[in-house]
Amino acid sequence: MTPNTQNYIAGEWLAGASVVENRNPSDLSDVIGCYAQADTAQLERALDAAEQAQKIWAKTGLEQRQSILQSIGEELMARAAELGELLAREEGKPLAEGKGEVYRAGQFFTYYAAEVLRQIGDMADSVRPDIEVYVQREPVGTVGIISPWNFPTATAVWKIAPALAFGNAVIWKPANAVPASAVAVAEIIDRQTAKGLPKGLFNLVMGSGREIGQQLVESARIDALSFTGSVEVGKGIAAAAAANLTKLQMEMGSKNALAVLDDADLDTAVACALGGSFGGTGQKCTASSRLIVHSAVHDEFVERLVAGAQAMVVDHALKAGTQIGPVVSKSQLQQNMDYMMLARDEGAELLCGGERVERATEGYYMTPAVFAGTSNHMRINREEMFAPITCVIKVDSYEEALATVNDTHFGLTSGIMTQSLARATHFRRNAQTGCVMVNLATAGTDYHVPFGGRGDSSYGPREQGQYAAEFYTTVKTSYVHSGVSF
Ligand code: NDP
Repeated sequence: MTPNTQNYIAGEWLAGASVVENRNPSDLSDVIGCYAQADTAQLERALDAAEQAQKIWAKTGLEQRQSILQSIGEELMARAAELGELLAREEGKPLAEGKGEVYRAGQFFTYYAAEVLRQIGDMADSVRPDIEVYVQREPVGTVGIISPWNFPTATAVWKIAPALAFGNAVIWKPANAVPASAVAVAEIIDRQTAKGLPKGLFNLVMGSGREIGQQLVESARIDALSFTGSVEVGKGIAAAAAANLTKLQMEMGSKNALAVLDDADLDTAVACALGGSFGGTGQKCTASSRLIVHSAVHDEFVERLVAGAQAMVVDHALKAGTQIGPVVSKSQLQQNMDYMMLARDEGAELLCGGERVERATEGYYMTPAVFAGTSNHMRINREEMFAPITCVIKVDSYEEALATVNDTHFGLTSGIMTQSLARATHFRRNAQTGCVMVNLATAGTDYHVPFGGRGDSSYGPREQGQYAAEFYTTVKTSYVHSGVSF
């Protein structure tokens, strides 16, 4: 069956001004489809439709809104195997990770379905007599969403679900590398028009970030913008949003560190380091790209880490047994190879991996790389590589480990491996990151609690859980004089 490849605007499936080809990074001969690219007129049409639909949605009864979000979530969960396969096919993450991501996306919808019914305000007596004060949240209006390719479904949905739950309209520009997953989500949402979701409330506008993405962020017609991607693009978006005073939320790069102390359980530490460094082919904003290891356990940890990395199966994302799929694209693979070269030039010692490898089908395969003998001032330990490359930094104390963890301009996640409650507690309170993991990998977060970072990693209010309300709503304070003094 030919996949749907069109934009979804004002409740209609529309061909674009041009198309972009979507190929499987595990098998370059596999063309998934040619996907529509929106033009300026289509973006404006989506903005018109969103404005109208949002007014209807804001007045739609809470139970109906809850039920619509619940149905979207249930369909995503029920179809996790099928859509997870599509996701793995176009993005390159192993099948199990693809399925898990789609299922999680469904959970975001069911979680926010429940939140629809939990929008309760505050009430206070005024400091003046006979006056009551009500504090309530209202939708912000039309929300622009720009999402990345590494979690094509989950990242987008953890923005779309709260945006709709809190009464907003959505214009979604997904990453151009992963349009098939975006269309799949749009089809599921479209089905809810039969249950009363206003046409035009949700719009999928595919196209290049530099063109249609830039037009979206420059539009004075969006009331809020949520972006996940690189710091460089994020800074440009912040400047564009500032010109219109658009409310902004951004999740960007990271350089997450996992500290392995001298009292760590090494089995757990090695498993967390491998999963955190190489899960999703290292293309996670929460990936462990710096492993900060106490000298007392350094040699044994590194030996076991290298053995583990060498044993990992790199192959086609859909093949049973694959642990690391291909890199997402040719340009990302080239960037990874450039970092491999840079690491050697900076004097890091390559212990394993980092080679391009061939498999039965032509794809962007590389083996996971471990560098030792690195220092925290090297560029490979300062820049986000987004690659299956991890760097070990040797330290001599807990204090040095903590200082090294914090010596970065990013601040998304950090982790510590220790059996000491005192050190774990001190680390939890002093790590300068938005998320802290104790005896866990730096990657892997929940959906009902806030997610976000510090420094260059994040900007604006937190995502996920009830904290998402801060971004997707605006607060109204009403003063009511009863007109009668008793
Ligand atoms: P980008 O920041 O370029 O892209 C992220 C999203 O922004 C995509 O939807 C993209 O569209 C869009 N975009 C790009 N330029 C603009 C613009 N000028 N205005 C509006 N939207 C825009 O990331 P890349 O996909 O190019 O990845 C590059 C690097 O970014 C990675 O190597 C990694 O370091 C980092 N990154 C970090 C992520 C994270 O979760 N922390 C996620 C993704 C990337 P399009 O796809 O069409 O370019």
